Amino acid sequence: MPELIVMEKIDGSPVAWRCSDCRLKFSVRGKLTAQERYRQVTEEFEVHMKECRKAGEPARDMAFAAGVPLPE
Ligand SMILES: [Zn+2]
Repeated sequence: MPELIVMEKIDGSPVAWRCSDCRLKFSVRGKLTAQERYRQVTEEFEVHMKECRKAGEPARDMAFAAGVPLPE
């Protein structure tokens, strides 16, 4: 399960994160409170998690197929 990793903090509150799985970067800027930022990034990340999982599946299948020796 991917999770959010804090990449950057300004004045002690996180403003940029990345996905632990695919390293996609999320950032929330602007005049928001720490809670508002966190809520916003969490929502974006929930959407991303679904896409990330979908995108990860074919890649795993391909890796598996590549490991199978071809008949000669
Ligand atoms: Zn991801």
